[in-house]
Amino acid sequence: MTALDPEFRFSSIGEVIERLEPSYPVFCIFPDVLRTRAKAFVEGFPGTVLYAVKCNPHPYVLEALAEGGISHFDTASITEIAKIAELMPEAHSYFNHPVKGRGALDAAAKVYGLKDYVVDHADELDKLISIAGTDITVEVRIATPKGKAVYDLSAKFGATPDDAVDLLKEAKRRGCRTALAFHVGSQCTDPSAFRVAMELSAKVRDRAGVPLEYLDVGGGFPAIYKMNVPPLSDYFDVITRARDELGFDIPLLAEPGRALVADGCSVLTQVHLRKGDDLYINDGIYGCLSEIRDGDLDPPVRAVSLSGSLGGATQPFRIFGPTCDSLDVLKLPFHLPEVIAEGDWIEFGQMGAYSIGMQTGFNGFITDTIVRIDGMHEEFVY
Ligand SMILES: *Cc1c(COP(=O)(O)O)cnc(C)c1O
Repeated sequence: MTALDPEFRFSSIGEVIERLEPSYPVFCIFPDVLRTRAKAFVEGFPGTVLYAVKCNPHPYVLEALAEGGISHFDTASITEIAKIAELMPEAHSYFNHPVKGRGALDAAAKVYGLKDYVVDHADELDKLISIAGTDITVEVRIATPKGKAVYDLSAKFGATPDDAVDLLKEAKRRGCRTALAFHVGSQCTDPSAFRVAMELSAKVRDRAGVPLEYLDVGGGFPAIYKMNVPPLSDYFDVITRARDELGFDIPLLAEPGRALVADGCSVLTQVHLRKGDDLYINDGIYGCLSEIRDGDLDPPVRAVSLSGSLGGATQPFRIFGPTCDSLDVLKLPFHLPEVIAEGDWIEFGQMGAYSIGMQTGFNGFITDTIVRIDGMHEEFVY
């Protein structure tokens, strides 16, 4: 797989600072943490675990997850499908975007040989069958009620129960295999949302009366951040109980993104100017910190100088990103040492999800120095 440049291997954030003294932002990947998270999920979840590639598509991340036992991938674009096929020819990808371009469908079916496709509308089913044929599994995605998730993923995609029943029957009638899928929303802090969605799935299943290949319970499993989230084992227990009580004697699939990768990466930034209680740093909402913009997620932070972690009394700071746009500010106040000054570094922890894959390069600011750090993360112990 990827050839790892030894120049970019470190044993700690402290060593990154010592060796590089970076005035540019550095994205730090901890493969050992990622491998451990993947292993725990694969061992705990009562079914097959697909990694949602969009969450963090970096090859170091994919490689570490594969080493942790992940060999199935939730892909949503031809770029993601091609990347998985190139890095891991043996892996199994699913085309789980409910709206697909004809060109991407054609390549997915004919070049990459994908067999699993999500739909949530009759016209998409027609398009899919006209290009990929009927030797496929059609996963009908149902919309789920908005629960306690930070990000709702049913506002845009998902069929109503009535439409889902029709889609399942029609896919079966045309000769396809059938399956059901849902997504309770990202960073879902309430395990019972999975129960509610599985009850809805059981109703659709019973009304459609077609055989199902599997039930895909989606992603949404939370990362820790500074939120008080239940442990993943609570989610697995709820899902296992619902599977047994609702009579799902078919395989289960899950598509976690965030829960697998969030705490396996940090963004190391530098303070370029301090104006009183305002800090101007070199990454922001158009870079790797876009998810912090709205203040819904609160990652752990710490300040570091050349001589180590900065301590002492703390105070709230407002943090501005590097672009010229005045929107480029993090909404939360961040509590950092009063003594922090220009040239010090700020590490944002638990930044593995929806970070490096979402940066824009706007204004010429891009986080393109990526390092791997071996060992578990000593400063942020979870
Ligand atoms: C984004 C996405 C995921 C991953 O969601 P997380 O909240 O990161 O676990 C899984 N499945 C689908 C279809 C998605 O769009």
